[in-house]
Amino acid sequence: MLTLSVSQITPKGFSTMRLKQLTLKKMFFNNNLKLNKKNLSPKILGLTSMIAGTLLLSAVSQSIMASEGEVNLYSARKEALIKPILDTFSQQTGIKVNLITGKADALLQRIKSEGKNTHADVFITTDAGRLYRAKKANVLQVIQSDVLNEAIPENLRDPQGYWYGISMRARPIFYVKGAVEANELSTYEALADKKFKDKICIRSSNNIYNQSLVASMLSADGAEKTQQWATNFVKNFARKPKGGDRDQIKGAASGQCDIAIANTYYFGKMITGKKADQKKAAEAVAIFWPNQNSRGTHVNVSGAAVTKYAKNAANAQKLIEFLSTKEAQRWYADVNFEYPVRKDVPASDLLKSWGKFKADAINLNQLGVNNAEAVKIMDRAGWK
Ligand code: FE
Repeated sequence: MLTLSVSQITPKGFSTMRLKQLTLKKMFFNNNLKLNKKNLSPKILGLTSMIAGTLLLSAVSQSIMASEGEVNLYSARKEALIKPILDTFSQQTGIKVNLITGKADALLQRIKSEGKNTHADVFITTDAGRLYRAKKANVLQVIQSDVLNEAIPENLRDPQGYWYGISMRARPIFYVKGAVEANELSTYEALADKKFKDKICIRSSNNIYNQSLVASMLSADGAEKTQQWATNFVKNFARKPKGGDRDQIKGAASGQCDIAIANTYYFGKMITGKKADQKKAAEAVAIFWPNQNSRGTHVNVSGAAVTKYAKNAANAQKLIEFLSTKEAQRWYADVNFEYPVRKDVPASDLLKSWGKFKADAINLNQLGVNNAEAVKIMDRAGWK
């Protein structure tokens, strides 16, 4: 059956209050309509556009009026982790936000392929490496905002203003209590030492978190040292990299390794979650904050950006500014088990209980700049 995507038909074919358009909106959000251009001949494509155009012409012109001011948000964060704060924003400003969630890489791909007709006004995703990719893909626009520049530390935002960090996470070392003493640990660099042979669990080099970690080391140590480090570090892996960050902590707790690398919010979710096996695994490990006598522990962000072809750029910026307020920072960080980016908003009690640490102050844009070289280094080291 021939199906159509609203996004292929009209630049603004959803989010209105009229019946016809409500149906469209429903179809859009349910993703019921799919048009794979590649599988269709130009003739059929032309025909479908024509039919669609006829059917929807009035709806389109009306919807442009009706949806004026609404902000469409493409978010790589799950609905439950962001929707309530969007509702607060709407209550306070009267600006409606339409939320579309998806996987980070798929959402960026979607914005790219939608081009000038993108529905997205705001893009929220995790990891500065990904935010950098979006900037380089030329789908973001510069935000000029004193509010954001004041609220968000310089190293946690793009130097040109293409994206802003809205929550922070760290990627420290986790060690099995009893199997490792904290004083045996010191730096990421020291994990390449022979004494850790077969003791380390870490996920694949395909993962952006690891790429960004290695990118931060490239800045601190240079290419030659980082290559040496990676080659020796891989030799210390207890197993072939598999699974996500939680699986590394689980691997450590189950005796497959003594040391795991993971993002802090996974640990927070595991230790407070309802899944007994995850909770038990998290309770078996402790956090060690590496590189405290040098640059600090590697940190990263989730961040927000206004898309290049945003139809409602002004309100899109208002939404991001709202996410930088004290109120939003506290909620957003807490619900995601992350650190607020604002210095004047304290971390949650749980995160405080993990201890204070010095964070690497590198400008996170550099993680994107170094990404390609980091990936090469990991490949050459045989990091699967
Ligand atoms: Fe994650």
